[in-house]
Amino acid sequence: MSEEEKPKLPSFATMAKNFAIDLAKYIKEGAPNVSAKSYQARLDACKECPFLVKTNMRCGKCGCLIEHKARWKTTNCPDKPSRWKPEVIVTKSEHEQKRNNTTYRDKA
Ligand code: SF4
Repeated sequence: MSEEEKPKLPSFATMAKNFAIDLAKYIKEGAPNVSAKSYQARLDACKECPFLVKTNMRCGKCGCLIEHKARWKTTNCPDKPSRWKPEVIVTKSEHEQKRNNTTYRDKA
């Protein structure tokens, strides 16, 4: 793989923002983690993904550390289509709903 083909991380500001959003959702739901089986399935999907930055195991789409991102029930793969889904979908704020014109409901 050439340098041009290697996945690159988003800017530090974007990574910090994405992490803060994921962390807020995770904490809001009481810090739920996926099962060991789900965690491994997510990691396996990431390992096959062309966006994985293998040198530091970060997602090239959002910049998050896969080790943590894949463990949290509230996180999702940011690729389109998503390679793995959240197991708890947090209701988005009204601001986000207006911006995205999407409504999220708790899945449980
Ligand atoms: S979270 Fe999704 S986009 Fe990011 S590395 Fe994993 S599979 Fe790829």
